[in-house]
Amino acid sequence: MLLGHPVCYDVFRQAEHRGIRLHDKRFCTAGAGGREKFQVQMRGVTVLKDLFRKQKKYATIPSEQAKREIPEGIVLKCPRCGNIGFAKELEKNLKVCKNCGYHFTLSAPERIRLTVDEGNFFEFDSDLISEDPLSFPHYKEKLEADRKKTEQNEAVVTGEGTIGGFPVIVGVMDSRFRMGSMGSVVGEKIARAADRAAVKGYPFVLFSASGGARMQEGVLSLMQMAKTSAALERLHEKRLLFVSVLTDPTTGGVSASFSSLGDINIAEPGALIGFAGRRVIEQTVRQELPEDFQTAEFLLKHGQLDQVVHRRNMRETLIRILDFHSGGDGYGDHQRNPSL
Ligand SMILES: [Zn+2]
Repeated sequence: MLLGHPVCYDVFRQAEHRGIRLHDKRFCTAGAGGREKFQVQMRGVTVLKDLFRKQKKYATIPSEQAKREIPEGIVLKCPRCGNIGFAKELEKNLKVCKNCGYHFTLSAPERIRLTVDEGNFFEFDSDLISEDPLSFPHYKEKLEADRKKTEQNEAVVTGEGTIGGFPVIVGVMDSRFRMGSMGSVVGEKIARAADRAAVKGYPFVLFSASGGARMQEGVLSLMQMAKTSAALERLHEKRLLFVSVLTDPTTGGVSASFSSLGDINIAEPGALIGFAGRRVIEQTVRQELPEDFQTAEFLLKHGQLDQVVHRRNMRETLIRILDFHSGGDGYGDHQRNPSL
């Protein structure tokens, strides 16, 4: 900065007007080339000519989140490959991306429609509602908002129905409700469903989709791990079948209790399944984890799953399993249609 130099003075005023404090180390090349070559170094940032511009020259670049916010009901963007498709087309393809095979999350009613025989589902315990035992801030309001959004009272729907004509007790978790987290009501509904299966002598098929135990209910959430596991043990004692289907995501206390206790554990492709998060494990074991760590395919490879099944084959796979465990009367769908 040259004292008394007209360009320097101009820059100084412009900077002052914009609330920019000039760094001590400033210099002026105005003498060598005029205003166009003028530079001011300030607080680590070099500004070229910009101080003379009155209008903003930068354009607004939409954030990653804004890019994803495409109006619902018209088009949907695949979170994995970025492919954009009509929502109706996606619906026809069972909400699986045609480009990369990404399985979009299904709500509980959607899953029941795809799995259970039409018009053959009778819901249990739909009136059970969570309390707020710890008076956790804003928990009641959040529950209320999720009830309105999902038109369900909790993060799991349980009931009785038939799959391919085979009577079953079915449970489906819904990640739209508090991220499918397991509070007292979720645990209670699953335990009751398992008990009903034990009383009726039916197999139990449970679809998991959960972020884990519900922190707003503290230790009461953690107790559900033991309660559901004990109910499944009663089912096991009666030699009844429990099929656990793990969908994206199944993590935390849910993966560490009932969803891993199936006589047969199956998962959808690419589903995230694990207990602690990737970063926590990496920091604990001080090792870099494989790219596909905690995916359904990784778990299958390491013996923690029995099968990874594409959504379009899920119903048929379940029918085959139910048929196989039904006593083999030879009249199941498998016998009628060998292609299943
Ligand atoms: Zn895709």
